[in-house]
Amino acid sequence: MEERLGAALAPCGLAVVKMPDKGRGLITLRDFSPGEVVIQQEPYASKPKFSSNGSSCDGCFALHNLKRCSACQMAWYCGSSCQKSEWKLHQLECKALSKLNNERRKMLTPSICLMLRLLLKRKLQKDKVIHSTATDSYDLVEALVSHMSDLHEKQLVLYAQIANLVNLVLPELEINIKEVTEIFSKLACNAHTICDSELKPLGTGLYPVISIINHSCLPNAVLVFEGRVAVVRAIEPIVKGTEVSISYIDTAATTRKRQKDLNEQYFFTCGCTACVKDVKASAVLEGYCCKDRTCDGFLLYDSGNRVFICQLCGLSRDNQEIKKLEKETKVLVDKASRSLSSNNYYEANTFFTKIEEYQIELCHSFSIDLLRTRESLLKIHMELKDWNKALTYCRLTISVYERLYPAIHPLCGLQHYTCGKLEWLLEHTETALKSFTKSVDILRITHGMNTIFMRELLSNLQEARREAAYRLSACD
Ligand SMILES: [Zn+2]
Ligand SMILES: [Zn+2]
Ligand SMILES: [Zn+2]
Ligand SMILES: [Zn+2]
Repeated sequence: MEERLGAALAPCGLAVVKMPDKGRGLITLRDFSPGEVVIQQEPYASKPKFSSNGSSCDGCFALHNLKRCSACQMAWYCGSSCQKSEWKLHQLECKALSKLNNERRKMLTPSICLMLRLLLKRKLQKDKVIHSTATDSYDLVEALVSHMSDLHEKQLVLYAQIANLVNLVLPELEINIKEVTEIFSKLACNAHTICDSELKPLGTGLYPVISIINHSCLPNAVLVFEGRVAVVRAIEPIVKGTEVSISYIDTAATTRKRQKDLNEQYFFTCGCTACVKDVKASAVLEGYCCKDRTCDGFLLYDSGNRVFICQLCGLSRDNQEIKKLEKETKVLVDKASRSLSSNNYYEANTFFTKIEEYQIELCHSFSIDLLRTRESLLKIHMELKDWNKALTYCRLTISVYERLYPAIHPLCGLQHYTCGKLEWLLEHTETALKSFTKSVDILRITHGMNTIFMRELLSNLQEARREAAYRLSACD
């Protein structure tokens, strides 16, 4: 298996190597430049997410003009070519699903659905109904880490229970419960959330070769999806012999929080340069602000004296006052999240505006909590079609994104795009042009140039350019 994979990856300028204390990794056999595709892969198995307003196409993850499989009512297709390409697999799946009553169907979580597909594909490849290749074979799934020994007893029992359910749905496969339990634990740390170009989740997929790529909080590559194809692009020059890295988590967090997230889901301690750097410095992200409003310092708790002390000017801030504000904010956050999830935007606006006031009083301007509040306010004002306020919040988030994320990061590119669209709506042509340009500069590297999404962005940019040129000539 390893030799076959090696032979398939070498022409792409890649090799799989065993790394000391982090298992396998992917290294480059040649230089890659920013924006260049390092590797792309179809999933071994994938499943669109299912919601009340439909799903996406099983074959290509398209969202429009979908027709439901009339037999099982649980698969969607954008047309006959996707239906055909998926039929060998869906034929078996469809038969099993059609037999289930409604109660059982409701028990099919996304990870169970993904598991069913994975087991069916394994069977079909074994029976040579579907061909296996060097980069699309069950051997690659077999080689993935499972971290079974790191799991709590409770988690293992849960996996075994779902494995039993899988057995009920597909009795003819005569599965081994212990083996399926192990595959579930593999999915938990290897499956990827498939997102659209704007990073909205569309479903899940398992990409065994992409899973070889290790994590870094300062990665040199980024993973995006085109339909259900996973595409890894270089975001900085990667010279020959370098390990390719992507980020598994949202890196907008303190070092402590990132380490906790990675340990809990992926069972390793990150040793990247961002993590080795001073842990204290990243504390600003959840730090309180100085009592002196003209000071840009952030506070750390001094347990001996039970006060928070500004790391810049040394001024201390009363613990009681901070606790009180924290408590009031927390009460509001619960209420605000409830109104937001029930789409009550007017009420959510009132709560989040109040939260923002408290957080400005309490937190440093780079605080992640304050950032999340402002992201919510941006979303709310977009829904309420208050473009002016939305633009204000969009700009406020960008200034923090630029500090939190590397210069080339999909979220920064997308936020500049939102900013540009708002400015365009408000007829701020000059600034819209600047925002679209910034957005293209970033997204051309992370997203490539060939998707519908990028074509739309480029045409917005061109229109803004024409309008700006026209206005300039009208002034002459
Ligand atoms: Zn399709
Ligand atoms: Zn069907
Ligand atoms: Zn790290
Ligand atoms: Zn200070």
